[in-house]
Amino acid sequence: DMKNILITGANRGIGLELAKKLAKENQIFATTRTISLNDELHSLSNTTVYQLDLLDDKSMDKLIHKLNEVSIDLIINNAGVFHDEQFNGLNHDLWLDEMKVNAISPISLTHRLKNNLINGEDKKVVFISSQMGSIDDNYSGNYYFYRSSKAALNASAKSISINWKDNGISVLILHPGWVQTDMGGKSAKITVEESVSGMIDLINNHNLKDTGIFLNYAGRKMEW
Ligand code: NAP
Repeated sequence: DMKNILITGANRGIGLELAKKLAKENQIFATTRTISLNDELHSLSNTTVYQLDLLDDKSMDKLIHKLNEVSIDLIINNAGVFHDEQFNGLNHDLWLDEMKVNAISPISLTHRLKNNLINGEDKKVVFISSQMGSIDDNYSGNYYFYRSSKAALNASAKSISINWKDNGISVLILHPGWVQTDMGGKSAKITVEESVSGMIDLINNHNLKDTGIFLNYAGRKMEW
């Protein structure tokens, strides 16, 4: 049976591959910051495209309004940004933007869709985080913006997993691996296909018993 799946940042990279694979058997609500009819996203079956800029509260209000009453089985919070502060200095505006896109807005979006999830069957939320958000795993320093934003995402996602367990909503926090996308770059270790197939398997097998777990795309448990 077709599930309703919301995917953010679905126009390129990991988000697009998630949409392509999941659209074969599910109804996809795909969000993109800029609606561009040239995007491959628009050619996918079973896919409705919505505008969402995680830096723009009004755009989130509009999306929430449009999704009113729609049941959602699975939310995949995928959209994310990486600014290299080595080139930008510790620019506060950039840091705040990164905190908002990577942590505050995905948590807020998920909160605002709680009733949609309760009306869905699967009741799953996925946060695409990063190994760089792991404090235990930080051996190389740097990347204050990205590390702190993904650590904030992890901390809040873990709280959601605890708070919403009684509602039957399960939370899965994933590190996609170092992936060949615009963000990961060409020297990244794995293809988008490898990362996304691994993550879809994990999402399908995820259940409430394991809510709040932090895994990489291959199912290995990540350090916090
Ligand atoms: P990507 O190719 O750079 O794609 C990023 C996506 O996020 C794009 O769809 C982008 O939209 C969207 N996005 C950026 N800022 C946004 C905003 N303000 N509002 C809404 N959407 C926004 O990156 P990716 O590699 O696919 O990354 C996907 C997720 O995996 C991210 O959360 C990232 O942190 C995480 N991750 C990636 C790697 C890796 O090696 N690639 C490793 C660990 C974690 P536009 O096209 O409009 O910019």
